[in-house]
Amino acid sequence: MSRTLKDQNALPLVTVVVGSQIPGNKITVITVSEALEESKRVDFDLPTSTTPLLPGKPRWANYIKGVIQHYRGHPMPAFQAVICSTVPLGGGLSSSASLEVAIYTFLQQLCPDDGDEMAKAMACQKAEHTHAGVPCGIMDQYVSVLGREAHALLIDCRSLEAAPVPLVDHRLVILITNSNVRHTLTGSEYSTRRKQCEEAAALLGKNSLRDATLEDLEAARDGMDDITYRRARHVIEEIKRTSQAAEALRQEDYTEFGRLMVESHNSLRDQYEVSCKELDELVNAAMEVDGVYGSRMTGGGFGGCTVTLLQAHSVEEAKQHIMERYNGSPSFYITTPSEGARVLSL
Ligand code: ADP
Repeated sequence: MSRTLKDQNALPLVTVVVGSQIPGNKITVITVSEALEESKRVDFDLPTSTTPLLPGKPRWANYIKGVIQHYRGHPMPAFQAVICSTVPLGGGLSSSASLEVAIYTFLQQLCPDDGDEMAKAMACQKAEHTHAGVPCGIMDQYVSVLGREAHALLIDCRSLEAAPVPLVDHRLVILITNSNVRHTLTGSEYSTRRKQCEEAAALLGKNSLRDATLEDLEAARDGMDDITYRRARHVIEEIKRTSQAAEALRQEDYTEFGRLMVESHNSLRDQYEVSCKELDELVNAAMEVDGVYGSRMTGGGFGGCTVTLLQAHSVEEAKQHIMERYNGSPSFYITTPSEGARVLSL
């Protein structure tokens, strides 16, 4: 028996898992990703109540071990599987969430859980926390599970509710540009930013920066160092920008949406300090092209990709201009919002 699964990750970039149940208690997974320098095959025993799966090497397998460990159906059989993905690894396009959700969806075929999609996204997030060591939020896993075709999702990461916002205008294109650079500090910087935000919230006497206003922040500014202040300011303003952007999209006001994208990029660059010169160059180059509404970095920063909203007829000109202006070799992907993970029949 073999199964095929696909996670569209809300972009036309996919992770596919193909595999089958086997007798015994061994799990074997192979990734065909060219980008990894580690061994592409991993073998390990099914976890038991006394011997849970622990993180180890190869590191890419930790995402899989984490998902198996937090999977919500029982009893899990032994299996073998192969992973194939077109999502660039470590580029800020959530290849890791795509992998987690694709593996979870695969496990659902071998040993069904209760089908609760929110719990599925949360189990995948937990896998990333416990086994990959990244204290990520829920956005990437959420959209990988619950993404809707032709819609953006406005996700409330506190209540875990999401409002779909139509994004189907054929005059528009979303262009992803990969800088093809990745500065090595990415791993630790993410948790540092998270800690700084938690410290800022504590100084403001709030559970989360979600509960803080700019007025609260200004009132507490003297008791806060400049870095903490700027991190908090970015987050408080970005939360507001996100709702404004959803409203602009609902009104089909792409000029306003684009303006907010650039404002967001500038804040990520100056206040949150997670951009880098390559991402800034890509955004600046994109913004010089007629028909471009907005552009910004995406993902954890320090390399990876930018996302640009532009008029469909300007795409070729934009790519050409970016290639001329960028000091590296970019790759481009045209994307459309698509539905979350699903089973493909062979
Ligand atoms: P992003 O999720 O933005 O692409 P991360 O650094 O969070 O970046 O995750 C990238 C990591 O996820 C890779 O280094 C690798 O360990 C793992 N990964 C993602 N996709 C695959 C895949 N198809 N095969 C094996 N590992 C993968």
